[in-house]
Amino acid sequence: MTPPPGQPARRRTGVLRREAVLAAVPAAVAALLGAAAPAAPGTAGAPGAGDPYFPLSGNGGYHVRHYDLTLRYDTSARHLDGTAVLAARATQNLSRFDLDLTGLKVTRVTVDGAPAAFRRTGQELVVTPRHTLHTGREFHITVAYHGTPKPVTDPDGSADGWIPTDDGAFVAGEPQGAMTWFPANAHPEDKSSYDITITVPQGRTAVSNGVLLGQRTAHGRTTFRWRETQPMAAYLATATVGKFKVEQYTTRDGIRVYNAVDPREASAAAPVLKKLPSVLAWESTLFGPYPFRSAGSVVDHANVGYALETQTRPLYDSAPDLGTLVHESAHQWFGDSVSLTAWKDIWLNEGFATYAEWLYAEQHGGDSAQKTFDALYARGAGDHLWAFPPGDPGSGAHIFDTPVYARGAMALHEVRRAVGDRDFFRILRAWSAGHRYGHGTTAQFERLAEKVSGKRLDGLFHTWLFTKGKPNRA
Ligand code: ZN
Repeated sequence: MTPPPGQPARRRTGVLRREAVLAAVPAAVAALLGAAAPAAPGTAGAPGAGDPYFPLSGNGGYHVRHYDLTLRYDTSARHLDGTAVLAARATQNLSRFDLDLTGLKVTRVTVDGAPAAFRRTGQELVVTPRHTLHTGREFHITVAYHGTPKPVTDPDGSADGWIPTDDGAFVAGEPQGAMTWFPANAHPEDKSSYDITITVPQGRTAVSNGVLLGQRTAHGRTTFRWRETQPMAAYLATATVGKFKVEQYTTRDGIRVYNAVDPREASAAAPVLKKLPSVLAWESTLFGPYPFRSAGSVVDHANVGYALETQTRPLYDSAPDLGTLVHESAHQWFGDSVSLTAWKDIWLNEGFATYAEWLYAEQHGGDSAQKTFDALYARGAGDHLWAFPPGDPGSGAHIFDTPVYARGAMALHEVRRAVGDRDFFRILRAWSAGHRYGHGTTAQFERLAEKVSGKRLDGLFHTWLFTKGKPNRA
């Protein structure tokens, strides 16, 4: 391992030697030796990223650069064995830090190879390394764990995380399910690259994000090695397992496609999946280049009740219709490449992906976006559509509710009407280019729209995103 920047390898060797000495002497003597060393003030990392909707999601004090997950899932026993190696960087002097993990038994935690103390409290795995990790320090956390993963129930009542199916598991982590299957800094504010290796019984397929590096069968088990090199929020990671028919090809644009389809959904899914390359090409003309190198779909046969825009490879609980494929594909730009810093901004994901569906219909012989808007606007003031403003859903219980999707899309349509088509699509492209692989906030989007169009849009944003009740028409 390379030493942290600015710290010569020599000093690290010294540190390691002192650790070895400490391990051999009684605690009281160790404490004395410790006291003689230069003071290393550190504080505990926060147990959450500070998101009021999900206060314990994510953690403070460090960033995860890369996750290396090695998993083995026994589909009949529903038992998961995992080793997670996280390459992290301290963003404060850290005496202690948390990871998000729920259920499962942790058997060992090391920090840079040295055993670290740990305890569990609720969804927090609290890790105390032997020494304070100074700001900027790169370190590796290894967590060995196993057990029967169970989904969490979201505030809106839906299941999220590792969801067992009749032939494997449907693994969808939005908003808080990543912690059901790996220890994570599970808030979209923290994005990382991933290597995900999954071993399953022979005959099952394990599908994850990015590119399939290799697949190997031995002793009745098959190991799938996946790699996503672009930054990814933890909720967008998957390790979905089932009996799937697999199709692989490269598009004209050089995107590597991997589709995994439950045979029970295959005939319904085929005509829709066939359109994936043309949908991605069409979205690229509107939103800018497709942000990733790989794409595809996982079509499972499960009663989950929603689809998820898992990065590079959306996840469907049954054969999707074309609108849903367009929606989850649009999320690759809006949500996956450009991510939220707080869940209250969820309309930046769902309003945009919904508006992509309207645009697709408009440009493919269906209703114009204006007609879709008008039909929604015709709903009475008491309709659920107007229950809350999409820019402020109020709690995690409402982030996937109609006002976020439909009124969020209506807000975008109003921006389009105010600035005209040319500037509207310039805004969308500047948004996905300027925040690519990073984050964006509602305030930043408003400023960009004003800058590109040269118009004041604060009234429009206030009305459509932040004002309670059915907006009056401009
Ligand atoms: Zn969506």
